Amino acid sequence: MVRRVASTATDALFPARCVHCGRDGELICDRCLAGATRIDREASCRMCALPTDGVTLCGRCSTNPAPASSLIAVFAFDGAIRSAIHALKYDGLRSIAPALSEEMAARWGDRRKVPDATVPVPLHRSRLRARGYNQAELLARNVAAHTGAPLRTDLLRRVVDSPSQASAVGETERAARVRDAFKAGAAVDGLHILLIDDVATTGSTINSAAQTLLEAGAWGVSALVLAREL
Ligand SMILES: [Zn+2]
Ligand SMILES: [Zn+2]
Repeated sequence: MVRRVASTATDALFPARCVHCGRDGELICDRCLAGATRIDREASCRMCALPTDGVTLCGRCSTNPAPASSLIAVFAFDGAIRSAIHALKYDGLRSIAPALSEEMAARWGDRRKVPDATVPVPLHRSRLRARGYNQAELLARNVAAHTGAPLRTDLLRRVVDSPSQASAVGETERAARVRDAFKAGAAVDGLHILLIDDVATTGSTINSAAQTLLEAGAWGVSALVLAREL
């Protein structure tokens, strides 16, 4: 509770300064946003968003396809975007979410087929209690408003807490810990889900969530994240 009040105060009391360069005006300034590394969809794998030489799928995904039919990442997880995500997750700067999710919505663009539901990757309840909010849900809210696919936080639950991106565990261990991290209800049956997260580090969290949704009967899962670790 104290932490929640403190983070609200952080949002309200300080004038907007860029989280990366410190310039007054906006929480992430145009210059830093323009300088951030954008992931070119035409030059990256459709399934994991890692760079390819222009082929649709990377070698790994063509032999071992991910459960989500696509992963779109707007930025590489570095520089100003890393600063922004850190501020959003660990410094209580919830008010930076709209500027970031606007980039996600713009990347999603206008598509004829609107997904049935926008689902943020949930936090485990103990982590949600500690942080006071789910940063993925803050991002998903604006994306949902843009796409017209309603925000649904009731379809997917995180039943096992997994280590944060900030902690240093290996890829294999991380993957093992997130494998059974989620549970989905029967209400996902037949739905095309747009799955939202702030950052994909190895992709194991997104893959685990997507796998759970598909096993519960979802028709398909598309994933959209603000940033991907390259
Ligand atoms: Zn800046
Ligand atoms: Zn791939």
